[in-house]
Amino acid sequence: QTTIISDSNNNTAPPPPHVVLVPLMAQGHIIPMLDMARLLAERGTFVTFITTPVNALRIKPIIVRVHESNLPIDFIELPFPCTEAGLPPGCENCDLIPSNDLFPTFFSALQLLAHRLEQRLKDLVPHPTCMINDMFNPWTANVARSLNIRRLVFHGPSCIHIYCSHVFHLHKIYETVTDEFEEIAVPGLTDYDDAGRSFKVCRMHAPGWFNWPGYEKLREEVLHAEEAADGVVINTFDDVEPMFVEAYKKVVGKDVWTVGSLCLYDKDDDFSARIVRGNKAAVDQEKLLCWLDSMEENSVLYVSFGSLIRMNVGQILEIGSGLQASEVPFIWVIKDAEKCPKVEEWLEGFERRMSFRSFVIKGWAPQAVILSHKSVGGFVSHCGWNSTLEAVSNGVPMITWPQFGDQFLNERLVVEFLRIGIAIGVKIPVFNYGEDEIRVRRDDVERTVRSLMNDGEVAEERRIRAREIKEKAIKSMEEGGSSYENITKLVEYMKQEPRKVVQRTKA
Ligand code: UDP
Repeated sequence: QTTIISDSNNNTAPPPPHVVLVPLMAQGHIIPMLDMARLLAERGTFVTFITTPVNALRIKPIIVRVHESNLPIDFIELPFPCTEAGLPPGCENCDLIPSNDLFPTFFSALQLLAHRLEQRLKDLVPHPTCMINDMFNPWTANVARSLNIRRLVFHGPSCIHIYCSHVFHLHKIYETVTDEFEEIAVPGLTDYDDAGRSFKVCRMHAPGWFNWPGYEKLREEVLHAEEAADGVVINTFDDVEPMFVEAYKKVVGKDVWTVGSLCLYDKDDDFSARIVRGNKAAVDQEKLLCWLDSMEENSVLYVSFGSLIRMNVGQILEIGSGLQASEVPFIWVIKDAEKCPKVEEWLEGFERRMSFRSFVIKGWAPQAVILSHKSVGGFVSHCGWNSTLEAVSNGVPMITWPQFGDQFLNERLVVEFLRIGIAIGVKIPVFNYGEDEIRVRRDDVERTVRSLMNDGEVAEERRIRAREIKEKAIKSMEEGGSSYENITKLVEYMKQEPRKVVQRTKA
């Protein structure tokens, strides 16, 4: 299968590696993989990026940019089997799943892509040499095996979460500890602070992978596919969570490449080029930029909770009232899925009252460009790992309001380790808010916003630390930096002949 390329002196060079990227069809997973695709393509790799029609439409402007800049990336659209699986038409992304009970169906639909993917890849020229699949796409293991190519797992979440999940699974903590709130010393981190204390966390805040009833088979598949993979690629950088990266490398028993912050890939000065990231922004870019430009440096608070969480009317009103009372200028994102007549009606009056210091975005926000603007000085976030890295990489202090998954551990990283955030105080995970469920009251919103955004000494020190970690994030992606060098090693690894691959199998 290997093509030999000769130069004019008849020296032969192996062809560039060809990697296939298979993201989970969710915004928080597609976005970093798309950054990675462009990064790998710039560093001498041929990339095939797997998507589906609805997702391809969302990222079309990026596809156009890729083609215009002649980056060697092919996009393959696999028809998504909504009807076959029992999903509503067009339900091709986690944020389009209408109710929680359809999540298992969505994951079954993904599995049905295996045959289609294999058919598309087997005759590709050049033949793929490697696959990088999202951790949540375990079905790709069989495809890689039948093509006889190496397979690496891509982790979108933080290493603090990956490590804790890994060792809790290894030490059977999910099976033996029944109290979700019991503080457990995380194995391998027995001397994590200056006083020699253990790092402790409860199961509730380190939930592992799919540890819910009804997901047992998927969990097994995910864990098995990770175990059988040839290596692990993580969207993090060594300086942001050194202890957890080190600990994970020690226990996982295979190559680990930390390649983040991937959001720093897109440094295009052109605002209109960067404004599309993951989806078309629901905002007039000129108006937004003008508004941001008119604000004082570090004065604006950005409030957004990622792509998945859906808050109810009551909670939305509490946030709005807290923001109003805080007297701080803000950009606030209300998702499409959160819009309803009651919210829209309330927002009408709210926006009128707050017009002098608010910018409400209804729908998809250009988050990465907002966080990189100099007038943005704070971020109320659910602590999704991409959002956290985007804040860290832009030096923006945070108010942490975790909701589920890795977010409680990300909060600890931000508040305890990096000391660039204030916890709003939630303790119990949630995915979709119950009808009357209010988790954070307006007073707590106001109090934390005032603490974060004031110009006192403590807030200033927090800003300084945020700027320091931003510098480290930038350095890690520059030549000589840890993530830059890891990408070099990753590309070298992918150049190895596929036939040297030893497929790992479960012991
Ligand atoms: N995002 C965005 N605009 C929005 C909502 C989200 O650009 O209105 C991006 C955000 O910048 C991040 C990703 O979507 O890159 C969300 O990933 P994260 O891990 O923060 O949270 P999730 O959506 O997975 O909960």
